Amino acid sequence: MDSSELDAWWREVVGEDVAYWVRPTQFDADRQLHVRCLTPAWSTQLKLLGQAMTARLNAAYPELAVAGIITATSPLRILVLGPPQWPHHELLITSLETAWHDVVQLYGPFSSLVCVHALHGRLGTEVACWTRFSGLSAEGHAPDWDTCRPDCPTNDPEHRGQRADRTTFCRSAGGRLNQQMIDLGADMVLALIPPDPASARRLAADLQYARAAQIPLWEVHTPDDHRVRDQAAS
Ligand SMILES: [Zn+2]
Repeated sequence: MDSSELDAWWREVVGEDVAYWVRPTQFDADRQLHVRCLTPAWSTQLKLLGQAMTARLNAAYPELAVAGIITATSPLRILVLGPPQWPHHELLITSLETAWHDVVQLYGPFSSLVCVHALHGRLGTEVACWTRFSGLSAEGHAPDWDTCRPDCPTNDPEHRGQRADRTTFCRSAGGRLNQQMIDLGADMVLALIPPDPASARRLAADLQYARAAQIPLWEVHTPDDHRVRDQAAS
């Protein structure tokens, strides 16, 4: 059973409310259903309701013959996406503070939080500093600059960029990292929209990818992005 089938089946049996807090991650070879609880309270709840829930699952889908439910509590993941050189320090800090506040409002103060981000550029440094200063956990990811992928335009002589020390790097690595971090899963994406249109278009493709993975998005636009401001005003 793939993850979207598992998800659809779980939602149908337990209902949208429970499915929001408790998400299936795997149905293993021993017919144990592994679920991820967003808060410790839900993990306790599931342990208490485990047998009743298993019976409900088996009544709805006898062919699955679920043996039991294994619960785990995982921290909430806020994924920060944006250009390596985000120009607005104050806006970044305010946005991170607001995202943190919103997540606590949504999931309760007992949920632990991990800030997932790229390590390169000023943005990576600033997010890492804020996370440490706020006492939260951070999960930084570095792009794999060395290795090209099969979908790289390797015929294009401009594709591999050259550093001052004459070593080369894959120009697509930075952009590819966003999708790799989305694949690791997140409960919210904080998207810092670049002011220049070309970078904004590239990020939009990644945000579409996050939307397809059903991750809630929060877009932050720079104050000098007139197009967005005018649209919002009209
Ligand atoms: Zn490449």
